[in-house]
Amino acid sequence: MIVELKKNATRDQIDLLENWLRDKGIRVTETQGEENVVLGLVGKAAKSIDEKMIESLEIVETTKSVKEPFKRANRKFHPEDSVIDINGVKIGGGNFAVIAGPCSVESPEQITEVAKAVQASGATLLRGGAFKPRTSPYDFQGMKAEGLELLELAKAETGMPLVTEIMNAAHLPLFENVEVLQVGARNMQNFELLKAVGRTNKTVLLKRGLANTLKELLMSAEYIMSEGNPNVILCERGIRTFETHTRNTLDLSAVPALKELSHLPVVIDPSHATGIARMVEPMAMAAAAAGADGLMIEVHNDPAHALCDGPQSLTPAQFDRVMKRVNLIREAMNADI
Ligand code: PEP
Ligand code: MN
Repeated sequence: MIVELKKNATRDQIDLLENWLRDKGIRVTETQGEENVVLGLVGKAAKSIDEKMIESLEIVETTKSVKEPFKRANRKFHPEDSVIDINGVKIGGGNFAVIAGPCSVESPEQITEVAKAVQASGATLLRGGAFKPRTSPYDFQGMKAEGLELLELAKAETGMPLVTEIMNAAHLPLFENVEVLQVGARNMQNFELLKAVGRTNKTVLLKRGLANTLKELLMSAEYIMSEGNPNVILCERGIRTFETHTRNTLDLSAVPALKELSHLPVVIDPSHATGIARMVEPMAMAAAAAGADGLMIEVHNDPAHALCDGPQSLTPAQFDRVMKRVNLIREAMNADI
């Protein structure tokens, strides 16, 4: 249930109501809206509360029941866009952030060279896989703990916060110096992993599964948020369809759909969505035009020799061009009309 409070509700009155609800076993979230405070009531106990009685309280403007099974991720719970601050890099609510870097960390030279190049072009977050989910067990599985150390090296040189995939909750201690935990497409419904990252205070980049609906993606976000971590970024990275020309099919309509349903930032990954480097630019521009809050793009200093996902990786020069063109789209989006 959503409880919209009156504009003139005082802090003491709000605290009194919240404590009373919590004593009944209800989990309460508070959001400061543009003009008034909105409370979100979740948990089994919230179902038994008398909506009419809540509505009759002096400080309550109105109540609404939320039919969707995702509550904390729901825009009804949090009418404003969520803005996530990652060590000073903001995403959401008009803040556009670009995550760039290689598919996999391969060497100190590779990751620092790519980090410096993408930063010079305007990327604000550095990606690089250390633990890689590969279809074949015989393919390069990532540099693992050593890869994380190399990412830290690149962060020390550039100051860029890190985004890297976690596949196993037991690895969490290794990710201490990582700012954004990526939950990859293949793990979108690994509920134990979702709960574990939900118990951390790190931002989570949650990628949509290859064959998952938007509602399922939001339910996975809910798993993370219900553990107390509100910092979730949703990522559309293409889904499986009958089309085989591209690696996946980019569902761009996910951007307006997710932003309608949820307050969480939405980013597009045109690299995994298409699997083809020359298609990254048009899809990145289209994502910006569709209202995405950011992009995740794979960039490699030598794509032809990349240990993973070379065909979809941009060179730093290609990435620089994409950034310039995306910025033009962003300017057009911000124009007053
Ligand atoms: C990745 O970003 O490196 C990755 C493996 O992506 P996805 O989980 O979307 O396939
Ligand atoms: Mn990749």
